[in-house]
Amino acid sequence: MNDCIFCKIIEKQIPSTIIYEDTVVLGILDINPANKGHVLIIVKNHYPDTITTPEDEFVSVMAATKMIAKATITALGADAYNIIINNGKASGQVIPHLHVHIVPRFPDDGLHLEWPHKKYAEGEIDEIAGKIRGELE
Ligand code: AMP
Ligand code: ZN
Repeated sequence: MNDCIFCKIIEKQIPSTIIYEDTVVLGILDINPANKGHVLIIVKNHYPDTITTPEDEFVSVMAATKMIAKATITALGADAYNIIINNGKASGQVIPHLHVHIVPRFPDDGLHLEWPHKKYAEGEIDEIAGKIRGELE
C-alpha cells in the first residue's frame, strides 16, 4: 500500500486545487503557501527525487515548470519567482515524491530563501571540483 500523499493527490483520492494536468505532471496550489500562488509541479509517476526521475520525465517537469511559472507570475502580478526542488530530508524535503516549487515573489515579502555563504579552505575548491569531474568521467 502506497502511503505517498502526492500519489494520492494524483490518483484524485485526496482533493487538491489543480491548475494544470498533462500525461506526465500535475500542477496544484501548495496548501501552505510561502506566498499566495505558490505552485507545486508534481511528476505523476512516483520517484523520490531528481536523480531517480528518468530524463524524459524530468525534462517534461521542467518544461511544465517554465510554462506555469510564466502564467503564475503574470496572474499574480509578481515581480520575481523562486523555482526550488528539495531533494532528501536534509535539504528540507518533506514529501519524498519529486516536485518543483514555484514561489511568486514580491518586494519586501518577508521571505528569506537566501542561504548564508561558506568559505573554502586553501586548495579545497580545486579538490572538490576534481572529485565531481572524476564522477562525470
Ligand atoms: P517539500 O518540503 O519540498 O517536500 O514540500 C512539500 C510541500 O507540499 C509543502 O510546501 C507543503 O505545504 C505541501 N503540501 C503538503 N500537503 C499538501 C496537500 N495536501 N496539498 C497541497 N500541498 C501540500
Ligand atoms: Zn508518490
